[in-house]
Amino acid sequence: MVWHTVPKAVQLLFPKRIWTADGLENQVYLTFDDGPVPGVTDFVLNELAKRGQQATFFLVGDNLRKNRALGREIIASGHHIGNHTFNHLNGWKTSDQDYLKNIQAFDQEFEASLGLKTDLFRPPYGLIRNSQAKALLKTKKLIMWNVLSGDYDQRIPGKQILSKSIDHTRSGSIVVFHDQEKTVEVLPKVLPPYLDFLLERGFITGLL
Ligand SMILES: [Zn+2]
Repeated sequence: MVWHTVPKAVQLLFPKRIWTADGLENQVYLTFDDGPVPGVTDFVLNELAKRGQQATFFLVGDNLRKNRALGREIIASGHHIGNHTFNHLNGWKTSDQDYLKNIQAFDQEFEASLGLKTDLFRPPYGLIRNSQAKALLKTKKLIMWNVLSGDYDQRIPGKQILSKSIDHTRSGSIVVFHDQEKTVEVLPKVLPPYLDFLLERGFITGLL
């Protein structure tokens, strides 16, 4: 079963992690994880640009290393970038020391490739130990989500990804999509209509 939203009880268990964001009325926060990946990230950038919408991209450091030009394009288009570790590590399966080092490796790549710093961090798979979170919270904001499109799960039909994402979107929602190899096929089906839904319903996009 795939959760398309995060139950309030889970959010309340981890109050220091950010599940929704306050902003203007009807503002939602689009996020794209795992890029930059050629053929997907550029598609996303183009769809956002067509509609004048903005997003925050949680990049994998090793993908940025391989695709620095795409990273530059994300920034040049006015979007934000956050840290999603260098190798997409699962915090539950990684020692605290290795996990924190891998996050630092992202920061080094980000500074080397784009000359920038970010205090935004999203744990891959949403899995992070309390000890890791505690160490990170000294310098970073932990950005979770409350609308999970499910776009990475090839068993979920595109129609369901779209309808569930629409159903759960509210003012303040942080919405997750993925710009990676697994979503090459489905994104062209679900992202344009979802972005159109935002426009039609008067939702504006904010940056984290
Ligand atoms: Zn990820």
